[in-house]
Amino acid sequence: SDAVSIDDLVAWIRRFRDAVQQHKDELTRLDSEIGDADHGSNMARGLDAVVARLEPAPADAAELFKTVGMTLVSSVGGASGPLYGTLFLRMGPALASDEVDAAALGAALRAGVDGVVARGKAELGDKTMIDALSPALDAWDAAAADGLAAAARAAAEAAARGRDATEHLVARKGRASYLGERSAGHVDPGAASATLLLEALRDTLAG
Ligand code: ADP
Ligand code: MG
Ligand code: MG
Repeated sequence: SDAVSIDDLVAWIRRFRDAVQQHKDELTRLDSEIGDADHGSNMARGLDAVVARLEPAPADAAELFKTVGMTLVSSVGGASGPLYGTLFLRMGPALASDEVDAAALGAALRAGVDGVVARGKAELGDKTMIDALSPALDAWDAAAADGLAAAARAAAEAAARGRDATEHLVARKGRASYLGERSAGHVDPGAASATLLLEALRDTLAG
């Protein structure tokens, strides 16, 4: 059946860690242009701490995402730690049902991103991770009837487009906003890491 297992979810988180490690220097380079050059190392450190806590494997999605969220909050530092932490902490309770299909995972992702918005107050177009996450959710919902693999594929594509579109934006949240107009011309590092999160999900759920 078209359902996500706890093993899939753990594999997603491991893949996200691997992708962040692979793109660590790129994320830090983006952050050196409009921030303080630590986004790659922040995320890599946090996700290494997360993966260290995945043995023994968590029993269910609620336990997994609580561990991921709390570990990111306490080990990432910077703006992105509490924001990614909130995303995962809000996802867990939304995944309480036994059968996690495309609609259920989409709803959980939306609960997570709503939490990021509530915490960080960023709107679409503020040049943050929300510019990748929000269009990804809309694309997910539009494709959910076609199943998990299709929804994840659509979401990853939309995230990448959202990430690319941050290049021309002026930042209105986070450190990059201190640069004002000079923040334009650079891709937002958090939008880049958020795209890696959706691409890791796509690769995990590829049918
Ligand atoms: P810091 O800026 O504290 O060094 P990071 O470099 O780890 O933290 O993360 C920076 C990223 O966090 C930005 O590229 C942006 O995408 C994201 N971010 C910052 N502030 C906000 C916010 N208020 N809402 C959503 N995302 C934010
Ligand atoms: Mg930074
Ligand atoms: Mg910092």
